[in-house]
Amino acid sequence: MVMGAAFGLTKELAEETAAVWEKVKDHTTPMEWPVQAALISEINALKKERNAVILAHNYMTPDIFHGVGDFVGDSLALAKEAAKVDAKVIVQAGVHFMAETSKILSPEKTVLIPDLRAGCSLASSITGADVRLIKERHPGLPVITYVNTTADVKAETDICCTSANAVQVVEWAAKEWGVDKVILIPDEYLARNVAAQTSVGIIAWAGHCEVHKRFTTQDIADMRAAWPGAEVLAHPECPEEILQAADFAGSTAAMISYVEKNRPKKVVLITECSMASNIKGDVPEVEFVGPCNMCPHMKRITLENIRDCLLHMQFEVTVEPEMQEKARAAVQRMIDLPPPSKPARYDLVRAKHSVAVELI
Ligand code: SF4
Repeated sequence: MVMGAAFGLTKELAEETAAVWEKVKDHTTPMEWPVQAALISEINALKKERNAVILAHNYMTPDIFHGVGDFVGDSLALAKEAAKVDAKVIVQAGVHFMAETSKILSPEKTVLIPDLRAGCSLASSITGADVRLIKERHPGLPVITYVNTTADVKAETDICCTSANAVQVVEWAAKEWGVDKVILIPDEYLARNVAAQTSVGIIAWAGHCEVHKRFTTQDIADMRAAWPGAEVLAHPECPEEILQAADFAGSTAAMISYVEKNRPKKVVLITECSMASNIKGDVPEVEFVGPCNMCPHMKRITLENIRDCLLHMQFEVTVEPEMQEKARAAVQRMIDLPPPSKPARYDLVRAKHSVAVELI
């Protein structure tokens, strides 16, 4: 019998969603599954009807990630996919700045987000007007912004970066501009963690991700005591003392690659907690332990509002054409750089450079 048929699903629906069930069965319940399976089926049919694709971020819940995501990954992977995807409609299963990035890279496509309130504490920490003032204060320095920013901020930017390529972009920009200092905004902790990996000086902004800044070194000590032997992997949006206390630090893609390669018996991922649920199915022998810090903005996206989004073609994300063009240059410049030779690792323990960050 196909798993799921016992939960009140029709035989056809159980068969259609059997592969998804295998991936999500540790993260859902028999009571919820019939509703989720029906929504997954409905969404996949609507995608065909609308000629749509769903770009799902690593922080989506497993029902979305495995059930309806056509392309899944981190911000960099999704941005690249948005640029080349062959469909009329893009549904961004992520937050608003990601939908704007998709629109910037695919202006001819209709970009929808299932909930317009899906924001980001980091993106809302800075505006384009702030960047103009920073440029006035530091003329001649390249401006690098994290992709977790709004389109008006990207439009004031020379080149974007993600946590996967930030060190590479900083070093490229310093060389290209012939300077020994760059502006890297808006994430203060990412800037500090990048500064520890390079001799290029960094001018930073005091923006933070509300999920990653919440972790403390006491949390890590408590986790090591609760789960002896567990390896601790941290995201570079965390404060530097968290990266120092971790066994490995890198972007979400680097964390996934570390787990797949090293297959630790037990692992703690110091990042948004859906990521562990999403990769668990691919590494069944690895036990994921630790707290569950969720991003409230990412969690606004649900199967129900993805279905409604496709059904009613709501909510469209647009970017004013002039801003779109300027922002596209910054994102495209990042995409055009050769991919990092290996997943970016942030080594805060053996960092050779003193962390010289000037906070604006
Ligand atoms: S996890 Fe942090 S950076 Fe990502 S969307 Fe949520 S608040 Fe923003």
